[in-house]
Amino acid sequence: MNRKEQIDKLSNEKKFDIIIIGSGATGLGCAVDAASRGYKTLLLEKYDFAKGTSSRTTKLVHGGVRYLAQGNIRLVREALLERGRLLQNAPHVCHTLSFVVPCYKWWQKWYYGIGLWVYEFLSGKLSLGKTKLLSKKEVLQHLPDLSVNNLTGGVLYFDGQFDDSRLAVNLAKTAIEQGAVVVNYCGVTGFIKEANIITGVKAKDEISGNEFEIKAKAVINATGVFADALLQLAEGHSEKTIAPSQGIHLVIEKHFFKGNAGMMIPKTDDGRVLFAIPWHDKLLLGTTDTPVENITTEPKPLQEEIDFIIRHFNRYTISEIHYKDIKSVFVGLRPLAKVSNKKKTAVMPRDYLIKVLPSGLVHVTGGKFTTYRSMAEHTIDKAIQTAGLKISFCKTKHLKIHGWTDNKIDTHLSIYGADASAIKQMMEKDISLSEKIHSCFPFTKAEVKWVIQNEMAITIEDVLARRIRLLFLDAKAAMEAAPLVTTKLASLTGNNLQWEQQQLEAFNKLAKGYLLN
Ligand SMILES: Cc1cc2nc3c(=O)[nH]c(=O)nc-3n(C[C@H](O)[C@H](O)[C@H](O)COP(=O)(O)OP(=O)(O)OC[C@H]3O[C@@H](n4cnc5c(N)ncnc54)[C@H](O)[C@@H]3O)c2cc1C
Repeated sequence: MNRKEQIDKLSNEKKFDIIIIGSGATGLGCAVDAASRGYKTLLLEKYDFAKGTSSRTTKLVHGGVRYLAQGNIRLVREALLERGRLLQNAPHVCHTLSFVVPCYKWWQKWYYGIGLWVYEFLSGKLSLGKTKLLSKKEVLQHLPDLSVNNLTGGVLYFDGQFDDSRLAVNLAKTAIEQGAVVVNYCGVTGFIKEANIITGVKAKDEISGNEFEIKAKAVINATGVFADALLQLAEGHSEKTIAPSQGIHLVIEKHFFKGNAGMMIPKTDDGRVLFAIPWHDKLLLGTTDTPVENITTEPKPLQEEIDFIIRHFNRYTISEIHYKDIKSVFVGLRPLAKVSNKKKTAVMPRDYLIKVLPSGLVHVTGGKFTTYRSMAEHTIDKAIQTAGLKISFCKTKHLKIHGWTDNKIDTHLSIYGADASAIKQMMEKDISLSEKIHSCFPFTKAEVKWVIQNEMAITIEDVLARRIRLLFLDAKAAMEAAPLVTTKLASLTGNNLQWEQQQLEAFNKLAKGYLLN
């Protein structure tokens, strides 16, 4: 995957069947779907792949236990089927994880147990494992650092876990392999219209400053929380279709809560679920649900959100965490479809919305990363119908995502799937590439080189936030690794010292936003 090649294709083509705007889970899913059906497809992303919400999830491939409690069986069933498909199609970035719900009242074990049996039942043949009631002793075998005061037992169930932005990069690669043109750092700045109907887009290459006018039979707006800004460009009105809701996550050392299972707290003070999940040898705690007005690429955590998570975690564990223990805090904005009579975003539906606007723009929003594939299928069906494209049916249910492998790789390189062997070979050829970029993490110089040369990483942030997840795991360590990464980036891309310094400054400023102290 090479950006120059993609830009050259874009410059030569200038006419596509389908243009997709935005490369989060939704847009990438649409690109894979459209290209694999044989349509000439272009995906344009203003920043980097998954720069928005799609790198800031709780890392669950799930049906959503909470939506079951809300009685939304259809949504849960669809998500559970998609969970099963994703684990089959991308086993290198997704895997099964066991979860324990600790119970502190006698009736809770049965109440949650029955709910989680239904949850498992709904996944049918794609079940990831049997839900089980646990004794107090068994709960502590899974979660040894759980507070034992009044603990009566628990429920064990299984769900999926993934690396969101790694999956996004693999989806971008899959789309290209299926014939799509995919360009990051190329934002849509306007629409081309004939008789008030959209016939293409205007776009700007954020690196070179070059501008393009590109024609298409169908244009899809998959820009997540930014969708209303695009709607305004397309339709000229300022109607709000999105009610953004912020969710934060705290990352702490694994030793605060040992064990291999995740913990699900089924009811927090505001009626949400809260997770403590092992992720890349750290522990991820989250999330919150706070309605926000301001839409930005780098949303900031609120102090009450941080306190909320710390307070709940400490209530359930024998260890106690404080601000100083937080290695990284990251924040995402949910692109929830606005429901006019609901103020509290926690109760708004997590379903997705696909509609065609008077300009012919196909607008898709909402949903979850887990359901990206089915959302994409329905969106492309709608685009075909709207633009009168020759019908071709969806092919993604069993389409293997780039990196798919059935080889067991027992190092941290397993996340690269089939590409891991190429990275290993790089290290064998040049031993200096096996040096680590930070003494406390396994990530190597070879991976930095790989992601720059093969995964369209353009900035230090692309490398250290979304290809290698160091910024999300430990922001201070990411700042310490940044100078080395910048030098590598500059030498591979032929940039000068001044560029290096600008990059480093920009990254350090960004990374400070992931630190609490
Ligand atoms: C806190 C939190 C936790 C979550 N946890 C989970 C979870 O565990 N599991 C799960 O399945 N789901 C989860 N979700 C939901 C999931 O993350 C989202 O539904 C999904 O990532 C949304 O993807 P998207 O593509 O719609 O939006 P985004 O990922 O935001 O993508 C939109 C893209 O459009 C780009 N863009 C904007 N303007 C332009 C333009 N003019 N031109 C070109 N590109 C543009 C942006 O840069 C961005 O990359 C979570 C969400 C949040 C907020």
